[in-house]
Amino acid sequence: MDRRIEIIQGDITTLHVDAIVNAANSSLLGGGGVDGAIHSAAGPQLLEECRTLHGCETGEAKITKGYNLPAAYVIHTVGPIWHGGNNNEDKLLARCYKNGLHLAEQHRVTSIAFPSISTGVYGFPVERASRIALLEMHEHLQHAQSVQKIIAVCFSPHDFGIYQTAVKEFDKN
Ligand code: ADP
Repeated sequence: MDRRIEIIQGDITTLHVDAIVNAANSSLLGGGGVDGAIHSAAGPQLLEECRTLHGCETGEAKITKGYNLPAAYVIHTVGPIWHGGNNNEDKLLARCYKNGLHLAEQHRVTSIAFPSISTGVYGFPVERASRIALLEMHEHLQHAQSVQKIIAVCFSPHDFGIYQTAVKEFDKN
């Protein structure tokens, strides 16, 4: 695995990186999980800016400022809802990472942290999602210009273990 990818367990809202990614819903008007945590830590101005964006399609990404967060930017992306795996879920999840990283490059972001998109309320199996996440991060770093560090943030120790296993598998192949 590329050394510029780091797996950690923790709360993404506390990280001192240029950008954190939000696993939002298509309204971009706030929700539970990581979205709720980001909005409460960033403060009400984040929601005000999100209102001006008029939502976001699944697999796409939009950027705002980070307000009261240590991160300068929040990149909002909408992961696919898991419907069994035969409904383009893998591709759409990969697009979240690709588009998020593309936006990061456009804004000269050097460090970025991702939560485990879609694996909470949206029900995407975390083993499968972790492989997609790591592959997209790795691929991006092969042609990255400004991004130097990508952090995969696991909220639970359980997810952290799954991501670590995925790294080991990745290194074998
Ligand atoms: P989705 O709707 O895309 O599934 P969720 O917010 O429900 O989004 O879950 C995505 C992932 O974010 C889950 O693994 C969840 O445990 C994790 N998560 C929740 N709060 C935080 C946080 N503060 N920092 C990092 N990850 C978080």
